[in-house]
Amino acid sequence: RKPENCAFVIFGVSGDLTHRLVLPSLYNLAAENLLPEKFCVVGAARRAMSNDELRDSLLKGLREFATRPVDDVVAHQLLQCVTFVEADSKDPSSFETLKKHLDALECSRGTGGNRLFYLATPPAAFAPTARELGRVGLMKEDNGAWRRLVIEKPFGTDLASAKALNAELLKIMDEHQIYRIDHYLGKETVQNILVLRFANGMFEPIWNRNHIDHIQITVEERLGVGHRGGFYDATGALRDMVPNHLFQLMSLVAMEPPTRFDAHSVRSEKAEVLSAIQQPSEAEALKSSVRAQYLAGRIGNADVPDYRKVPDVRPGSTTETYVALKLMIDNWRWAGVPFYLRTGKALAHKRTEVAIKFKQAPLSMFSGTAVDRLSQNFLTIGIAPTETIELQFNAKIPGPSVTIDGVEMKFRYGDYFKADPSTGYETLIYDCMIGDNILFQRADGVEAGWQAVQPFLNAWKNAGSNGIETYAAGSDGPACADDLLRRDGRSWRKFT
Ligand code: NAP
Repeated sequence: RKPENCAFVIFGVSGDLTHRLVLPSLYNLAAENLLPEKFCVVGAARRAMSNDELRDSLLKGLREFATRPVDDVVAHQLLQCVTFVEADSKDPSSFETLKKHLDALECSRGTGGNRLFYLATPPAAFAPTARELGRVGLMKEDNGAWRRLVIEKPFGTDLASAKALNAELLKIMDEHQIYRIDHYLGKETVQNILVLRFANGMFEPIWNRNHIDHIQITVEERLGVGHRGGFYDATGALRDMVPNHLFQLMSLVAMEPPTRFDAHSVRSEKAEVLSAIQQPSEAEALKSSVRAQYLAGRIGNADVPDYRKVPDVRPGSTTETYVALKLMIDNWRWAGVPFYLRTGKALAHKRTEVAIKFKQAPLSMFSGTAVDRLSQNFLTIGIAPTETIELQFNAKIPGPSVTIDGVEMKFRYGDYFKADPSTGYETLIYDCMIGDNILFQRADGVEAGWQAVQPFLNAWKNAGSNGIETYAAGSDGPACADDLLRRDGRSWRKFT
């Protein structure tokens, strides 16, 4: 169905996110006839430009980042909906101008007063922009028209700042108006975790501590920090990836079944399970975490310099480019089942997966095959580079004697379903326009995520450079990440 008519306002229209993801997603929605009948895009930034300059720049971005061949007619129609407004949260009068611009557009385009404000700006501008939107009355829902605000991660940099940002936003608008985007939730396989668990009768009975030994969540990137040294050095792998992307995966895998498939039930269960993550003491946090920085190495044909030599990285920086954690969830389903999470940059492979390790058979009746020699029973949900679901189990090798080997059953999304290549943002942007916030983070979920990582942030801060390890760029990560599991008699799933 087509969304209701609306105006789509992008703050930060001259930036990378707009060109790389937002506009190409709007283009894909336009190509699939999924934009509102009456629609306009208002681009806002501090640096002035004409409508034509903005349209040229967006078209250039579209040609570079589109996920499918660009149809000139569709692109032209979309870009004709775009106008520019200069807006700076430090200049209150610019928001009065924006309001007038929107009022005039709504009359000429008939978009009906529904407005979506997309903050594709640096995080420091989130609260000031929201404050100005509130001050001039642009967030007020009246006469049946809706007003929505979309913000990109990071939603704070620790528990205190996340709470402060939520409190600030909630002074200006209601929770139902806020759409906190985590682009992982736009991925089909991520959404499919819910379908796999709750649309099949066979998994749920064994989805608990009685049958599951532990769970591994891996997000590995081949890319180093590149030219984003300043941003990355102030952030690090834990803040950049764990409370958002990895916890989205973890909460979908670990949540209780929601009573209904609606935003309230699903988001409540996700927040509930994150708030049950055990809070380790400082000593436990250091013992159950690994942090490391990459040293020079080779990835493919490229030489990668030491992390500390990346421009804008502080000399002697202790910011981690790799993190591994062992987390426990204090509830009846998961008591005693470790969740091992790891993510890092400049690694040998790009892969994202959730691997659920089932308990071994209690004994082996096959002579010569001890239980610990049997292949491990992993159910793996692969998200990148290919979208898969894979089951590892033991099978008899053909022949007169009973000998056993581990085999795999693999479902590849692409073998069954054909979908046009997308940015992953289309579903999310479409959902914002139809008012479905099931795939967006709620304030309590964000805060529960920060609460779970805060003990690690505190412990690392107090430890300074003690305990920061290294790994070669292009390797599988630091050896101590293996030790984290080896101590528990376990190992990371091998990449096949
Ligand atoms: P960017 O390329 O630096 O663009 C930032 C944009 O915001 C520019 O248009 C800039 O234009 C505007 N801006 C900067 N400071 C502002 C301020 N104080 N008030 C209002 N506007 C301001 O950044 P980006 O990569 O697009 O990232 C934007 C947001 O998306 C960030 O929060 C980032 O973490 C998030 N994000 C980005 C990506 C990505 O792939 N790029 C992916 C996920 C999340 P003017 O200077 O002219 O105002």
